[in-house]
Amino acid sequence: MAVLPIRITGETVLHTVAAEVTDFDDSLQHLVDDMFETMKMAPGVGLAAPQVGVPLRVFVYNWTDDEGVLWRGVAINPELWITPTATGEADEDDDSEGCLSLPGERFPVIRADRAILRAVDLDQKPYEIVAEGWLARIFQHEFDHLNGVLYVDRLEEGYDRAVAKVIKKKGWGVPGQSWLPGEDHLED
Ligand code: ZN
Repeated sequence: MAVLPIRITGETVLHTVAAEVTDFDDSLQHLVDDMFETMKMAPGVGLAAPQVGVPLRVFVYNWTDDEGVLWRGVAINPELWITPTATGEADEDDDSEGCLSLPGERFPVIRADRAILRAVDLDQKPYEIVAEGWLARIFQHEFDHLNGVLYVDRLEEGYDRAVAKVIKKKGWGVPGQSWLPGEDHLED
């Protein structure tokens, strides 16, 4: 298994709709193994294939809820249904998300409270998860990645200006940038 470089916003693959997986072969197995390893090292609770430069509809997740239940798996060719998104302003305490493709940053974004994920695993076995709260948020965040959408594309006015400033200051927003978990130390 290998830790893969994580692409930073501006890289084309992050802003492009990913393709359905059609070959459930060894290279897919390797990709998923490497994605789990990369997510662990980052560390993160979710990672989508475009973030490691692969334009396929695959994401992994690894998150333990308040009751100690571990939610860990791979979603291949997922579908996602969500409840209507709450109205009102995003809350900086409750709604702040981060993304490994904008390392070290957090901004609040409103998400649906509930989501139903339907996907297949590496054996092409279909499964379904009815998610609430933070797990529903993780699924929405990762599913967005497969459609070329980053959470910062969903920010409310004000926060969108703040993130544009950060991207400019850090020299992101152009192709060709990545960081390697375990090697590169992120500045705050
Ligand atoms: Zn992300």
